[in-house]
Amino acid sequence: MIEFANVTKQYTPDATALRGISLTINKGELVYLAGPSGAGKSTLLKMIAAMERPTSGKVTVNGTDIGRLKSAGIPFLRRNLGLIFQQQRLLTDRSVLANVMMPMLVTGLPRAQAEERARAALDKVGLLDRASAAPLALSGGEQQRVSIARAIVNRPQIILADEPTANLDRASANKVFDALRAFNKVGVTCLISTHDEQVLDGASRVIHLKQGSLDDSVQGASA
Ligand code: ADP
Ligand code: ADP
Repeated sequence: MIEFANVTKQYTPDATALRGISLTINKGELVYLAGPSGAGKSTLLKMIAAMERPTSGKVTVNGTDIGRLKSAGIPFLRRNLGLIFQQQRLLTDRSVLANVMMPMLVTGLPRAQAEERARAALDKVGLLDRASAAPLALSGGEQQRVSIARAIVNRPQIILADEPTANLDRASANKVFDALRAFNKVGVTCLISTHDEQVLDGASRVIHLKQGSLDDSVQGASA
């Protein structure tokens, strides 16, 4: 479903984020992408969503070659992706429920149906009782779970989460991972980056990155 074949990403002559990465992620997997800050985790996730293109090598997502994808094809690719990135904060001028409904209204789903599905998604992340709250009234971990609900309402095949537990305490982080695992259980392929090695359980696999390369010294342990 996701394949990297000898992928290198060089932002500038002295900023190489990924070096010759080859990996395959299969449908239904829950994969953690682990490694210290600067290892290339965000870059790898961004390439799957065509937010960055490989400098060399090939990234294939659901049969689509990301390097050759025209801009008109990007919305079609992203329709199958649930993105949880730091850049995509919740809109603070509307309720939690309105935030979760938004991606469905954009695709033209009728309001009543969007609301019903948004409530179901909030229920799954344990926040149905906060539907009418303002996002800023929620804790960081709760806001992150709302972001997860918003990312999955259009039933993507793949969830990409970039450091979804950054700045959260252990208990909140566990709830965020629980929410992601719950969607994985119903068939959504999940790729989750983290620099927090303590939380790496429940994964089908852990991919370790170090300075843009797969870190083979630890790869075997969990692969
Ligand atoms: P991580 O997510 O593991 O922290 P990143 O993918 O964000 O790693 O970054 C990997 C490397 O690429 C870092 O050295 C970072 O400074 C560099 N980098 C990331 N984005 C850019 C960019 N837009 N321009 C130049 N260098 C970048
Ligand atoms: P409903 O079918 O009424 O939307 P569900 O309990 O089946 O209620 O789903 C709860 C939420 O999980 C929904 O918002 C749905 O969009 C979301 N979801 C995302 N991906 C999937 C999936 N692969 N299977 C089922 N539900 C999914």
